[in-house]
Amino acid sequence: MSVITEMYREMGIRNSVVNLGKEIEATLKERFDTIDEIAEYNQLKVVHAMQKNHVSAACFEYASGYGYDDLGRDKLEKVYADVFHTESALVRPQITCGTHALALALSANLRPGDELVSVAGKPYDTLEEVIGIRPSKGSLAEYGVSYSQVDLLEDGSFDFENIPKAIHDNTKIVTIQRSKGYQTRPSFSVEQIGEVIAFVKKIKPDVICMVDNCYGEFVETIEPSDVGADMVVGSLIKNPGGGLAPIGGYIAGREELIENCGYRLTSPGLGREVGASLGVMKDFYQGFFLAPTVTASALKGAIFAANIYEKLGYHVIPNGSESRHDIIQAVEFGKPEGVIAFCKGIQAAAPVDSHVTPEPWAMPGYDSDVIMAAGAFVQGSSIELSADGPIKPPYAVYFQGGLTWPHAKLGILMSLEYLVRDGIVSL
Ligand SMILES: *Cc1c(COP(=O)(O)O)cnc(C)c1O
Repeated sequence: MSVITEMYREMGIRNSVVNLGKEIEATLKERFDTIDEIAEYNQLKVVHAMQKNHVSAACFEYASGYGYDDLGRDKLEKVYADVFHTESALVRPQITCGTHALALALSANLRPGDELVSVAGKPYDTLEEVIGIRPSKGSLAEYGVSYSQVDLLEDGSFDFENIPKAIHDNTKIVTIQRSKGYQTRPSFSVEQIGEVIAFVKKIKPDVICMVDNCYGEFVETIEPSDVGADMVVGSLIKNPGGGLAPIGGYIAGREELIENCGYRLTSPGLGREVGASLGVMKDFYQGFFLAPTVTASALKGAIFAANIYEKLGYHVIPNGSESRHDIIQAVEFGKPEGVIAFCKGIQAAAPVDSHVTPEPWAMPGYDSDVIMAAGAFVQGSSIELSADGPIKPPYAVYFQGGLTWPHAKLGILMSLEYLVRDGIVSL
């Protein structure tokens, strides 16, 4: 349609960029069809759970104060539990982010003398301080919880030979991170997670298997809780919030474990009975309703970008044809200018703050300057189109999200337009 090309031109994207996009998109039809099918299944799963639990307009009402009998909150937790096929779930705006949800799941179910084992190598950066790998105030280590880790093999697979050696009498929780996060290993499929859980349970049947599910929700038709995980944990400003949840995290799993999380989140004795939902419920429900198709859009964007930049000769992780288990895409530019131009393009395509220019800066917690592009409705939301790149070799940019496929596509084309403008790519 020529009006589309014209509109792209009006927004500053030249024809050669649009045409390359068209060419690449035409090769992805089959993969996009598969993604749509997964989204269709997951959409049914969510709607079915909402119907089964009789979600009604009363669920969206504002609750304040202690939050006793907060109907919307209690029902939403049943909806989550049904979608994840778990006995129970804790879904709260008082869980401030993914790290908090993970810290909560761990601290609620570990006691002094217990050991936590990661069988998926080094966990996500922020968990280093939660666990106490990097000494930190309030860490599990300070409370007498020990930690050990089984690194992944060189090809990124589980080390089945060394896992048994790491599981002892005091091993209480085994943690598995589904997404690679911002590491270079591959992300795990739910099936692979199921294999390692079965393996661990054979060694020690009463061990609690927890999966960090961040960025993985709704990418497949099954979740780690369908293959034996006792707890799955994630953030509502990623996939399951569908772009609408303004805050929050969830933990879904066995009733006893979730009950413990409730006591840890609020207070012993009070548990899940308190915690007013403060008017966020409509966004939590509607976001969860949208999450399957939002995740599909983000996934299409990641695959589209992988194929465009692979075609231009860059190293992309995952590559253009690999199967996907999360929504993160990395592109290695080999020089800072590439990372910067890419991020400026993503920013320029945003619905919010498109007029600001991101610059690399010394962000706390990072060992190099970092450039971040985000023009999001929810601050820091990474289910919305966003990108960041540490200014250090191999000069890779990590990007993720896109609430709609046309917007994800616009962002990627704009990133390429900026690379062409800066003379880094020629078309
Ligand atoms: C994002 C993420 C987290 C932490 O979530 P925050 O909301 O940023 O605290 C943990 N693990 C993985 C794999 C993630 O992607």
